[in-house]
Amino acid sequence: MRDVPCQIIHDLLPLYHDEVCSDESREMVEEHLVHCEQCQLELERMKAELPIAEKKGIDPTTDDRLIQKIAATWKKGRKKSFMKGAIITALSITTLILVYAGLFNWDIISVAADKAEISDISKTADGKIVYYLNIDDGYSVNTLKYSMDDNGNFYITAKRPVVKKEAQPPYALEKGHDFIDVPSQEQSRGRKIKAIYFGTPKNKTLMWKKGMELPDASERVENRFGF
Ligand SMILES: [Zn+2]
Repeated sequence: MRDVPCQIIHDLLPLYHDEVCSDESREMVEEHLVHCEQCQLELERMKAELPIAEKKGIDPTTDDRLIQKIAATWKKGRKKSFMKGAIITALSITTLILVYAGLFNWDIISVAADKAEISDISKTADGKIVYYLNIDDGYSVNTLKYSMDDNGNFYITAKRPVVKKEAQPPYALEKGHDFIDVPSQEQSRGRKIKAIYFGTPKNKTLMWKKGMELPDASERVENRFGF
């Protein structure tokens, strides 16, 4: 029996434990272990320090519970992410629909004053101002908005969506007569109209202002608008 120092056995033990040492070394270690309690203990200690993967079977209940807990948390997290995703998707779709609807339907663009040609302005017997509006840029107008500022400036603003539609016959607002019921507007707004413009305060064409004489409406116009 060779007397091998414990230190050498200690160096070899990890290899022996992992079963990767040579036969000669293995025999040497085993011979030593038979009579050396200290090295036996060292080997036992190594066996106890098993890698985590090999340890699993030791306490299955604890580990299973842990795994279930992790799985539950993960599932909950996934459910939360799913809800978050669903909400974000719904909001995005809503926004898209609103933007789409807005671009095509909301009458937020004012037609520039120079795109409109106003002619045939006359006054009916009951005080309405009638005019012929011709918006000849080829695009339709959805609405005519009336507004008045504190100084009695009255604005007729033609509105259309951001995405313009081609004007097609029969033309409704783009080419046709329209009227401002001056007495009724003054009554409802509680102020006298001093001037009428087509456009907006920043971009306008004067149609009529106080003191400007207007021809009496033709019989045809009078029959249509004077009631
Ligand atoms: Zn020893």
